[in-house]
Amino acid sequence: MHGKGRLSDLPFFETVQEILSHYSCPSSCPAICCKLADINLDEKDLDLLMQASKYQTDKIESCDEEGVSHYKISIPCPYLELGRCSVYEWRPTLCRMFPFNICDVPDVLLLFPCDMGASIFKDYVEYSDNILKQSIPAKTIDAFEQSHCSFGIRQNKCLSIPMLVLKINNLLPFKEYLKLRLK
Ligand code: SF4
Ligand code: SF4
Repeated sequence: MHGKGRLSDLPFFETVQEILSHYSCPSSCPAICCKLADINLDEKDLDLLMQASKYQTDKIESCDEEGVSHYKISIPCPYLELGRCSVYEWRPTLCRMFPFNICDVPDVLLLFPCDMGASIFKDYVEYSDNILKQSIPAKTIDAFEQSHCSFGIRQNKCLSIPMLVLKINNLLPFKEYLKLRLK
């Protein structure tokens, strides 16, 4: 939940953006990330969405949870039209981070096992082997691959989707690794 403040000010936001710049979503993906969970909005997200929708606020919900008021959009996202984001240039910060997601633990991010998440994970395993010299345990790799294979089915059946937990501290050197590897 996010009331005041900007999610894009989170220290890892730019690192995540640079990592994501090396990947793209396959056209075959039916925008699963837009149907998974409510999207909490920060103040900047709200402003941009209001501008994008010419100040029509019917798609944005105002909530009060645990005494904190905030705004969100509920799933399936009402801005999803014919499988595409109709406000792509103005999409909220959390949408810009997918398949990474924040959680309650401050020093980690979650990685969803969608197609793009699986591509990132494959490179992360390689980075961990070659640079960190710390192999990701085989059972973690198996579990993520299984989650990836069953991702669409689980989402359709509203089953919980296991995600990978990544330490934020490891994302900065991973970003540099991707940059060098592609030089
Ligand atoms: S981020 Fe993942 S779930 Fe979302 S469109 Fe891309 S591949 Fe699909
Ligand atoms: S705003 Fe766009 S990217 Fe975000 S959940 Fe909705 S359709 Fe998807």
